[in-house]
Amino acid sequence: MEVDVLIVGAGPAGSTTARYCAGRDTSVLMIDRRREIGQPVQCGEFFPSAKEMYSMFPRSTDLEDLFRIDEGVVVGHVNHIDLVSPRGRTYRCPFEGVALDRRSFDKSLVKLAVEAGAELRAGTSLLSVDDGIARTTIGDIGFKVLIGADGPNSRTAREVGLERPLARYPAVTCHAEGNFDPAIKMYFGSVAPGGYAWVIPKRKGANIGAGFNPKTLSRHPSAYFQEFVARLGVPYRDVTMGFVPLSGPTSRTVGGNTMLVGDAAGHVMSSNGGGIPIAMIAGRIAGRTVKEHLRGGLPLAEYEPRWRSVLEKPLASSLWTRKLGDLFFPADRRMEFAMRVLGVRGLARAIRCKKVFYLF
Ligand SMILES: Cc1cc2nc3c(=O)[nH]c(=O)nc-3n(C[C@H](O)[C@H](O)[C@H](O)COP(=O)(O)OP(=O)(O)OC[C@H]3O[C@@H](n4cnc5c(N)ncnc54)[C@H](O)[C@@H]3O)c2cc1C
Repeated sequence: MEVDVLIVGAGPAGSTTARYCAGRDTSVLMIDRRREIGQPVQCGEFFPSAKEMYSMFPRSTDLEDLFRIDEGVVVGHVNHIDLVSPRGRTYRCPFEGVALDRRSFDKSLVKLAVEAGAELRAGTSLLSVDDGIARTTIGDIGFKVLIGADGPNSRTAREVGLERPLARYPAVTCHAEGNFDPAIKMYFGSVAPGGYAWVIPKRKGANIGAGFNPKTLSRHPSAYFQEFVARLGVPYRDVTMGFVPLSGPTSRTVGGNTMLVGDAAGHVMSSNGGGIPIAMIAGRIAGRTVKEHLRGGLPLAEYEPRWRSVLEKPLASSLWTRKLGDLFFPADRRMEFAMRVLGVRGLARAIRCKKVFYLF
């Protein structure tokens, strides 16, 4: 089989890239090893509003169109985030966004890509890339451009010799039943060493989870997670574990005719683990670059400065904040102190990818 663009991974990065490069004159094939797109859900399912994204990424444009979300996949609205210290002190920060049904959300993004002309082969894995041919579980596929949108363990990156994100933080999540406060809760301290535990309310129930710095763990992540859910005392189901790349963007996201997008490129906010909207912003830039490359010969390398001009600075601040947090995370007492010093203002800056103090 021969296509113009082969996209490995039909998560938010892959399907958005497809949506913006597919067309009558461009054949775009997405492959995904999952049999059902969006399943299992390895996500907190929180999506910030366009207004919040403009404040965090001021050089981004036209997010309303990019983030046009099918109302059917929205399962809750959020206006505040409560950051809870190890001793239970709550710092309430205004923050707007929605809770998604991620399973349906990923399918809705694939639908947009298919409407634009892309094709999806689910249940299909990339095995290797040899001499410009992708070996997959449905046979060999030739391509003009290869997109690695296959998450933090990107096989595409490995096969073409591009660097993968260095730090991958384990995170466990589940769906919980019950009635929950309408604000998101983020719990810090030994409850989730080096990360945080969360409760993201939905119309029915909540997404509950916890993410960790693997270097600080003395037990398996699921042991901390189970302790946290037991503390909340709610029934839960659908427990899954995934990895969040929190070392910032990789040094190179284009190599030859291959581009990396989303988690595969480290496109995640390191201070809060949010990656869905970043994957979509980078995906749109990638898709448009590929289109211009195939139509007018624009070098694919142009993708790199384009996404960096929009995302790099806030992502660097976000990484800096995470590294600063690492100094305080190991001890509850230090964490308590740090949160007091920062107060609502500093904490709100931290979750918004801004430097926590004005000077650094
Ligand atoms: C527990 C957890 C909670 C999170 N919570 C949030 C949150 O609340 N809000 C937020 O914004 N972000 C959150 N994130 C991060 C967010 O999920 C990711 O940043 C986002 O999914 C990145 O999209 P992507 O398309 O790059 O990668 P993915 O969504 O991971 O998609 C990659 C796709 O590639 C496929 N794939 C992998 N290897 C192959 C292969 N060899 N062949 C074919 N297909 C392959 C996979 O099946 C998958 O479908 C969370 C992450 C985790 C792990």
